[in-house]
Amino acid sequence: MEEKVRKVETRAVHSGDRKRSPDAPGAFVPVTTPIYTAASYIYEQMEKLDRVLGNEEEGFCYSRYDNPTNAALEEVITDLEGGYDSLACSSGMSAMHIAILAALTDRRKSILSASAIYGATNSLLTKILEPLGIEINFMDVCNLDEVRQKIADTKPGCVLMETISNPLLRVGAIDRIAEMTRAAGAALLVDNTFATPLLVRPLELGANLSVHSLTKFLAGHGDVLGGVVIADQEHAERIRSISRTMGPVLGPFEAYLTMRGIKTFALRVERQCANACRIANWLGSHPRISRVHYLADPNHPDASVIRRLLPSGVSGAIVSFELKDARKEDVLKFMDRLKLIVRATSLGDVHSLILYPAISSHRDVAPKQRERMGIHDGLVRLCAGIEAVDDIIADLEQALEENRSKE
Ligand code: PLP
Repeated sequence: MEEKVRKVETRAVHSGDRKRSPDAPGAFVPVTTPIYTAASYIYEQMEKLDRVLGNEEEGFCYSRYDNPTNAALEEVITDLEGGYDSLACSSGMSAMHIAILAALTDRRKSILSASAIYGATNSLLTKILEPLGIEINFMDVCNLDEVRQKIADTKPGCVLMETISNPLLRVGAIDRIAEMTRAAGAALLVDNTFATPLLVRPLELGANLSVHSLTKFLAGHGDVLGGVVIADQEHAERIRSISRTMGPVLGPFEAYLTMRGIKTFALRVERQCANACRIANWLGSHPRISRVHYLADPNHPDASVIRRLLPSGVSGAIVSFELKDARKEDVLKFMDRLKLIVRATSLGDVHSLILYPAISSHRDVAPKQRERMGIHDGLVRLCAGIEAVDDIIADLEQALEENRSKE
């Protein structure tokens, strides 16, 4: 079968692995990519090293530049996202930093960002890049008239958005925003962490760069901190040359664990989405819950964009919901009563994870501003794991029941 027509689920299992080094002795090829821990590589002849260092010949010389384990991971991710090249980084945030620098090279030093954006990305923009002289503006990516106007008014070099916002799960029209961004000569950078390449591939929709926190669905087991930037042809060399100098590379052990995780990511995400859908429907009819946010909701404010950009019927793995009339202390007590769902600040792991945005991702946002954003005191975010969904629901039920009996 033509490699190009293979589906994401197949590419996740096969891409990147089973490389034979031209210099390796023997006639065997390892089935999975080994962990290369060497910091540097020697060649029989210095002439060859000269050509490798000069980028005239493929090869590895120093692990800040590249490493065979990382190269295998980068190959599978490039393939999954339909990019030209990708770069594995030590965290999602270092990937985001490199992607922004690559997007702004040779462009106006101005970023137009979605206002609903991960807290640390917001801090990177406002606390680090803005004081360095980079102009930062914000917009609502779900309002295309506003996006068009802001692009015209602020003339950004880079437009930045997330595929699915946190925690209210809003979805902007990446394809339309990509057209506007391209027409303005800017680069579109999309954080695709919440969607994964199973649900959305931003570069295929016209984005120039996408970023993932590998820590989440792709590695998927809560034991890796990592990130990746995927670039189109125009930005591929830039991400590599910035990284060669700045050096935020992923360690080879983490690269190995991530590759291992990626082989099952499609299975996991499918199951997590199915679990999230059942949980959302169950929560929707619970008397203690006032509101449920999830992507498969027919009344979702971005339902038509979701129908256009996401595979049909997929709900995403995340469900955010509001405990009726709950204050902070009620939410904390409810969360303390959970016996199975893990209370921790992450998402995308095999185990279900629950988080309280008001004290974590949105801790630095003033309470009134949080209210204006729709992040009320009773709102919690749940990322479904791969457990039996009845057990997840039973855990929520007993914790909500307790809440009621204590009133
Ligand atoms: N982007 C999103 C959407 C995230 O949720 C996170 C972390 O939670 C990051 C980026 C940063 O990733 P990392 O923690 O791997 O640096």
